[in-house]
Amino acid sequence: MAELWAIPDDPLLPELRAFASRHRLGERGRALDRSPEFPRAEFRALGEAGWLGLTVRPGLGGRGLPPSRAAVLLFHLGYLGGTVFAKLSLQPEFSSVLSDHGSPKAVEEWFRPMLRGERLVGNQITEAQAGSDATALATTVTRDGGSYVLNGEKTEVAMAGDTEAAIVYARAPGTSGHDGISAFLVPQDLPGVHRTVEAMDLGERWQRRGSVRYDHVAVPADLRLGEEGAGFRYVLPELAQDRGLLAAVYLGVARASWDETVRYVGQRVAFRRPLSDQQSVAFALVDDGLRLETAWMFALRALSRLPEGAAGAAETGLAKALATEVALATIDHAIQFHGGRGYSGALPHEQRWRDVRSGSIAHGPSEVLYRAAARQLWPRGSAGNP
Ligand SMILES: Cc1cc2nc3c(=O)[nH]c(=O)nc-3n(C[C@H](O)[C@H](O)[C@H](O)COP(=O)(O)OP(=O)(O)OC[C@H]3O[C@@H](n4cnc5c(N)ncnc54)[C@H](O)[C@@H]3O)c2cc1C
Repeated sequence: MAELWAIPDDPLLPELRAFASRHRLGERGRALDRSPEFPRAEFRALGEAGWLGLTVRPGLGGRGLPPSRAAVLLFHLGYLGGTVFAKLSLQPEFSSVLSDHGSPKAVEEWFRPMLRGERLVGNQITEAQAGSDATALATTVTRDGGSYVLNGEKTEVAMAGDTEAAIVYARAPGTSGHDGISAFLVPQDLPGVHRTVEAMDLGERWQRRGSVRYDHVAVPADLRLGEEGAGFRYVLPELAQDRGLLAAVYLGVARASWDETVRYVGQRVAFRRPLSDQQSVAFALVDDGLRLETAWMFALRALSRLPEGAAGAAETGLAKALATEVALATIDHAIQFHGGRGYSGALPHEQRWRDVRSGSIAHGPSEVLYRAAARQLWPRGSAGNP
């Protein structure tokens, strides 16, 4: 609609738009809010069409797009269908510890089928006493012959009842902090796995979050991912890329609300003038557009710095924090300027706000991401960061 800030473009966009229209992603995303379930048919369709794991290397069956191009397509998945399909697209990226460190058999049996939308693998790090500070996790793992035995409980888990397997992080007894944490691929139908789907969330209800308890679960040793004790080291680069790509998703969702609002206020008449004639409305929308564009440019810049390690990771964390904040403020204005209908479920804005709201908590709360950035300014042990 508005020409001031051109929407990001990519040669694959016509194909993606045709896919979204064929599968009615917009309507389906809205329906999943009212009747939450894991959208298995769409997951499969996304996989068949090659929209899952956009950055996954071709050797594993992916498109191998650079993060900057994946970001554009995820922006558009967010724009066209809300957060849900973009997050489905990211499931393989959320499982890079499996693709990078799993045995060839585990990759063949779990990762490749996930890329085709046939099998769903989740992630389980969080525990009741270990969320922002994942190094406090207490689930234990002990070697017993050809298996590892898991004991503990994971909480806040997305798709708790829907995943066929999960990447589970657990520590050797007697270890603390980063040390001793290993990653395992755990089929969720093993004896001793108890899954509970909990109360309905504010948004992204299709995720049907819950908890998973492990009571003496024997995990075959060949499902350990990489080296013993290296789990935490493996997941950090994954999180760094995920955060930059999630920023793109939230900005795409918010841009949809912004475009619709710009269109609407030019037509809606109140006090004999279009709403767009009111400076308080027009300036707010200009400011939102400017901030969306700024956050987008920053997200792309941050993604380009990923190879630089900790500094790049700090920037993608900030990109997610900034994108979430800007997106929520933009969607809030969309609700406001659409008036009573904006507040209602008749329009998509209130759901978009609820869905995007998770962005400042999941994959690292914003405060924790600012803390990581501060550590780049004042390295640990310096006067500013004792
Ligand atoms: C939609 C959604 C999906 C999720 N999916 C998964 C999943 O699939 N698997 C999984 O393992 N986890 C998942 N999580 C959990 C998520 O990773 C945690 O909720 C998150 O890490 C925060 O942990 P916590 O909830 O224990 O909050 P806490 O660690 O208790 O923190 C609570 C709040 O305190 C503040 N805070 C924390 N630390 C600091 C600090 N150092 N400085 C300043 N303020 C601070 C922040 O505002 C934070 O939100 C999901 C969460 C959501 C919302």
